Amino acid sequence: MVNKIKVLISGVNRKITKTFYLENKLGNIDGIISELNSYANLFGQNMPVVVEGNPKTVDSLNHRIRTSPYVSRLLSRPLIKLIPVSKTKSGGVSLNRRKKVGVKHTSRGGKVYSVGIDVGGTFIKCLVLRNSIPVSSSFTKIVTPKKRGDIVLNLAKLVDTAMLGLDKQRLRGIGIGIPGFAENGRIEKLSNLTAWNGLELERSLSKILAQDYGYPLVNVWIDNDANLAGLRNAVRLKKPGSITFTVGTGVGGGIVSNYKIFHGITGAAGEMHLRITGFEGVKDACTCGIKDGCIESVCSSRGIVLSFTDEWFEFVQANSGSKSKSSDDVLSKIAVRVRNTGVITNKDCREIDVAAQKGCVPAKKVMYATAKNFVIAIEYLYKLTGIKDYIFSGGVVQGLLGEYMRKELSFRKLTQCGIKTFIVSDADTAGAEGAALFAWTVNS
Ligand SMILES: [Zn+2]
Repeated sequence: MVNKIKVLISGVNRKITKTFYLENKLGNIDGIISELNSYANLFGQNMPVVVEGNPKTVDSLNHRIRTSPYVSRLLSRPLIKLIPVSKTKSGGVSLNRRKKVGVKHTSRGGKVYSVGIDVGGTFIKCLVLRNSIPVSSSFTKIVTPKKRGDIVLNLAKLVDTAMLGLDKQRLRGIGIGIPGFAENGRIEKLSNLTAWNGLELERSLSKILAQDYGYPLVNVWIDNDANLAGLRNAVRLKKPGSITFTVGTGVGGGIVSNYKIFHGITGAAGEMHLRITGFEGVKDACTCGIKDGCIESVCSSRGIVLSFTDEWFEFVQANSGSKSKSSDDVLSKIAVRVRNTGVITNKDCREIDVAAQKGCVPAKKVMYATAKNFVIAIEYLYKLTGIKDYIFSGGVVQGLLGEYMRKELSFRKLTQCGIKTFIVSDADTAGAEGAALFAWTVNS
């Protein structure tokens, strides 16, 4: 069977229509991408490309364009609208004009909505943007479904609840942030939510919202939550080229270039498992397998607490005669528990951060080492990417990190290159907002 897709390419004053024939499903797709690339280069950046075809082909092409290393910068996602067209009985393709209007590429017509969904291990949060601004300061929340059969149905209901009272026809896209990876719209790796793995979430959510709730067929985009944090920080801090580190039990990263998430050829760009000689305080192997100093093993809250434990005992031994303060009791308990049981809680790192601000010597020492490790990473990233703005979120390191990083940047003569660091505290809505901004930037 021959599939047919139609490509409409609109320049400022010109319109070209071209029909591609696809044999054997997607056999010729690289040829199409290469031809699209040349049109994109011809017309320049403000060129919406509309592809019409049967849903399966369009979906596959959509994903190939998003993941192909051969796609021109000018043909990147915000410029492409792919419109599924239902097959006619004869097996041909009917080009449905009405549907085309439904997902028209523009926000010029006034308000458009984008929905963001933040998938967490316990809860899923949902937020709606009107153009780029949240409709409400609060979010809609459900318990994360653990049964496979519930996932898409509950997400569709969540979207509809969040959109209550808003014009469904103006929903332009949905972004979904997951603590894992998706490829071609399929969830590939969500380690704590195994029922989600393998789910074709992008396609199925769009379909159910259209079939059961009367929404237009909207694009759904899934991305890693650290990438979305990166996009959100870039947009909100107006840093079009920036790298965000999300510091928590791990260290995540999101690289943003020209307000677009940089996925790289493998799709996993921004995964910050950097192994750099010179990192201080390497205590154990990282989950990625690096044994002698992955950034995650030294700069995550776990790495910080482990380093602190060693520093603490060294400090106590050297100052055995000195009087202890009440804050020392808290720290002493942490250090003893970590050394004896290996158990580290989410609060430990925050306690150490607070103690450092109050002048606790071993806590300050560990925070300086953390700042130094981050600056070493920044120096490498700057030299590789030219990016000058580095944003830290996640909430575990707030106090002295910024000040210490500035000192270290200055010491390494990096401030004169214009490198800046920013520490942001995330609101509860940050994850969902990042996901919604993702859908919004794709569609605007
Ligand atoms: Zn690692």
